[in-house]
Amino acid sequence: MKNSIFNYTLPSLGKTLEENGFKKYSAKQIFNWIYEKNVLDFALMTNISKELKLFLNENFIINSLNMLVSEESHDGTIKLLFMLDDKRTIETVLMPQKYGQSVCITTQVGCKMACKFCASGLIKTERNLETHEMVLQILAINLLLKEKYKNDPDSPRARVSHVVVMGIGEPFDNFDNVWNFVNIINDDYGFNIGARHITVSTCGVVPKIKEFADLQSQVNLAISLHAPNNEIRNKLMPINKAYPVEKLMDAIKYYIQKTNRRITFEYILIEDVNDSEDNARELAKLVKGINGYVNLIPYNEVEENPFKRSTKIGQFFSVLRKLNVNAILRKEYGIDINAACGQLRAKREGIIKNEI
Ligand code: SAH
Repeated sequence: MKNSIFNYTLPSLGKTLEENGFKKYSAKQIFNWIYEKNVLDFALMTNISKELKLFLNENFIINSLNMLVSEESHDGTIKLLFMLDDKRTIETVLMPQKYGQSVCITTQVGCKMACKFCASGLIKTERNLETHEMVLQILAINLLLKEKYKNDPDSPRARVSHVVVMGIGEPFDNFDNVWNFVNIINDDYGFNIGARHITVSTCGVVPKIKEFADLQSQVNLAISLHAPNNEIRNKLMPINKAYPVEKLMDAIKYYIQKTNRRITFEYILIEDVNDSEDNARELAKLVKGINGYVNLIPYNEVEENPFKRSTKIGQFFSVLRKLNVNAILRKEYGIDINAACGQLRAKREGIIKNEI
């Protein structure tokens, strides 16, 4: 069966070419055509031999995602809905920022983690995305930006510069594909997105945090903490029963020791669940001495659950500040098109139903 070319990292494509009697170097040429020039047809790759073109055509496809809908928010956020080959749908969000074009990508259809407050777990079908299905989310947005900025193609806004792996899915439950994806978008011959411009967010899969630490990459790591203790976290996030807060903190310390990178703690504020001043003090104690900062996120309400957005965000924030915790309040994007954090659900009533 033909394999998507977008499943291949540069070294793995080089190796495959070499094993079939071609030069490893041609992988760089192919990557350059695809990722830099966006030439999506082997026949048009002029510096590639006839024999290699034949081999590529026989063994690989240059596929694309089927875009069903794109919606633009008042603040410039764009949400795209894609249909995969098996008819399942995923969403990708582009958030134009002062510092560049940031994209939030999806890593799974649905999610097994079942965090009580999150809409993603409501998608009944689940599967990992293949590497190519993640790479193609970025490519689709790059093509869109290229078109949008066709009169100014050298503008830094004409391509994706930052990626957050925070869409639907738990990236550390699809570790290998996500890691291949990261390598492809980070590669100089790929999309050339700097590791420090890529952020992977996890709900706290401890063994995978350690595995990630051992890779000693410069890619940023964010932890969805959302609670200052086991009692509250157990109620919100089933993963906490397998890997309680102490184990999570140990893994984070290990990560920092291995990589010397600063960690982000994400903390959504839910009314009367995790937003009291005591909770803030407990959180301050928990993260004290750790090289990181707390990202406070206003909770986005989800119809299917009872949680409400906190009305005490300001107080919570000042308690943390008073206790010298590095904390910021995250700005929200794409509220009017349901593209805000945690609201993706890859479903469009009336257009497609992917829930079998
Ligand atoms: N599984 C990964 C990444 C996807 S979720 C993780 O848990 O980190 C991305 C972020 O959105 C997580 O911090 C998640 O807890 C948060 N989130 C989920 N539902 C939300 C909601 N309704 N409002 C605000 N944030 C939400």
